[in-house]
Amino acid sequence: MRRTRNAKIVATLGPASSSAGTIEQLFLAGVDVFRLNFSHGSADEHRARVAAIREVENRHGRPIAVLADLQGPKLRVGSFAGGAVELAEGAGFRLQLDPIEGSARAVTLPHPEIFAALQPGAELLLDDGKLRLRVQRCDARSADTTVLVGGRLSDRKGVNVPGVVLPISALTEKDRRDLDTALELGADWVALSFVQRPEDVIEARALIRGRAGIVTKLEKPAAIERLEEVVEASDAVMVARGDLGVELPAERVPPLQKRIVRACRRRGRPVIVATQMLESMIESPVPTRAEASDVATAIYDGADAVMLSAESAAGKHPVAAVEIMNRIIGQVESDPLYRQFLEASHSPNVPGHTDVADAVCCAMRRAVALLPARAIVCCTHSGHSSLRAARERAEAPILSLTPLLSTARRVVLAWGVHSLHVPEVNSVDEITGLAGSLARREGFAQAGEHFVAIAGMPFGTPGTTNLLRIGVA
Ligand code: PGA
Ligand code: MN
Repeated sequence: MRRTRNAKIVATLGPASSSAGTIEQLFLAGVDVFRLNFSHGSADEHRARVAAIREVENRHGRPIAVLADLQGPKLRVGSFAGGAVELAEGAGFRLQLDPIEGSARAVTLPHPEIFAALQPGAELLLDDGKLRLRVQRCDARSADTTVLVGGRLSDRKGVNVPGVVLPISALTEKDRRDLDTALELGADWVALSFVQRPEDVIEARALIRGRAGIVTKLEKPAAIERLEEVVEASDAVMVARGDLGVELPAERVPPLQKRIVRACRRRGRPVIVATQMLESMIESPVPTRAEASDVATAIYDGADAVMLSAESAAGKHPVAAVEIMNRIIGQVESDPLYRQFLEASHSPNVPGHTDVADAVCCAMRRAVALLPARAIVCCTHSGHSSLRAARERAEAPILSLTPLLSTARRVVLAWGVHSLHVPEVNSVDEITGLAGSLARREGFAQAGEHFVAIAGMPFGTPGTTNLLRIGVA
């Protein structure tokens, strides 16, 4: 079973899509990576989903990646005497650590970290950015603010503090428990919400200890300010446009999406564009023209993957949403302009800032175009060679071969990667033989056509991509 597109589809599982039958339909319609959203659902629900995914994987003989998305800290106000209040523009409104019954004059904000980081002039957003407050005076236990944008505020609504780096770990107690569950379930990727700085990613890496790859969700302006370092610290990245669009005005999101995708492609980190991609399909069986265009834009930009959230988790048409995404990607990838855009946005290696793997992959890219070769074959343990090859956005699909099932599943996220779990190979001749026969068997090359293989010697040492071999299928 083989897909012919390069960009990948991530779909979130939820109440609308968790039966074994639906999961199989979603896979057949084009899902490469299933996302478990730990903001919702119990450990048992996630366990049942993973069992169903692994059954589909077995039945169809194709590695499938599971992405466990951790909720991260959610900052919320306390409750109000009548359940809600109306805040008028220009009015004073007090936030305080001490518990009180909320009113139109004050409410509890049970987060000392926010008070520790606030400065006069800082702005707070309430209820997904619908209301806006400016801090006039603050101390360690309270803040007096002025309402800049008013409206109705009800119990336990969310709070964002976009301009401020909060002294909060990206992992709460709940996240640590969920992380244990996710790793026990064998998640291939773990997504981190609320990342503000590279140290947050490094902290999570120490807990995960290589058992899953780390997808950093870029949804905080503070993380964007250190974009290059955050991308460098991550294994993959998600452009989390939902929260990004709360913390920043909507018009700031499109240029940031381009910048993030570019930064990830330059460093060879898989990048997922996420949130509201086919939002109207939660209700409607067809997307809007603007939504189709949004998905297409992400593909033209060279993103590794596009993601469905509520559309597949809680919408009325989860399978149709995947089918439409699949068709949009197919259309873009068959457009000759797509190749031109990919070439134009490719960041070449810089002499003096290039390692051996860069040089091998650069030669691979040239060889594929010149021959032309029908397949790129990567023999890998860590997955590094396959991800490094994907960075090239070369003109042939990547056949990623690995004896490690965990690696076979993880690399599925990356652009152009067709992943296979194969027995260990021990020599260059064995690689060449296996590569040729698999390229034929999987329908990439006909007998007599070229493939380009890359690998690292000695075998099994991660990050040693140093071998390029051109073979004939
Ligand atoms: P969430 O993340 O849906 O888990 O909040 C994605 C986003 O913020 O866009
Ligand atoms: Mn988010």
